[in-house]
Amino acid sequence: MNADAWIRRAAALVTTDAERLTRLDAAIGDGDHGLNLERGFSAAVAALPGDVPPGKVLLAAGRAIVSKTGGASGPLYGTALRRAGKSLGDAPEIGAANLGAALRAALDGVRELGKAEEGDKTMVDALAPAVAAYERTLEGGGDLASCARAAAEAAAQGADATVPLTARKGRASYLGERSAGHMDPGAASTALIVRALSDVASGE
Ligand code: ADP
Ligand code: MG
Repeated sequence: MNADAWIRRAAALVTTDAERLTRLDAAIGDGDHGLNLERGFSAAVAALPGDVPPGKVLLAAGRAIVSKTGGASGPLYGTALRRAGKSLGDAPEIGAANLGAALRAALDGVRELGKAEEGDKTMVDALAPAVAAYERTLEGGGDLASCARAAAEAAAQGADATVPLTARKGRASYLGERSAGHMDPGAASTALIVRALSDVASGE
């Protein structure tokens, strides 16, 4: 699987849905999530280094996102991509197994930095079930495309499941119980980024 194609597809999906992400963030945050991600992922696309191993591609994309994305989500997504890149190391290709390890490393990075648990109404609520579904499918003998598809479905379900939750991390937590009844914007964007992975892994 091509790491450049994943970053490009993620950039396209967050750009297409930027207004929806901003609307979600306007309801329980400050209304900048769509803009933050559009800016961050276009910086990542601009920073794609060309003909290098996929781990280096993700490191470069992560660095660009950290430096160009405003808000809490920039350092979190940047860390996720950098950890994934580091985990891939100099591997010449992305396969089902090393991508699973990279996604697990990304989740660990987000958890370490943001200290959010599942159920806190953050991107972790989409990313954690995505990684778990990926690993389950891999253990069952699934190939890259089916693992990524399972991850994308779980991320989307995880994002949907944030609607009734009360936020305990990030800006939305200032609202307390008034944050319930809205989808978490970061969980929604994580679902898009994992769907981008699945699209590329399935050759769409
Ligand atoms: P900001 O909240 O600074 O305006 P964004 O709007 O870009 O930044 O991103 C908000 C999203 O970031 C939230 O919806 C949530 O998913 C995620 N987020 C915020 N804080 C944390 C955290 N500590 N751990 C994990 N995710 C977080
Ligand atoms: Mg915001």
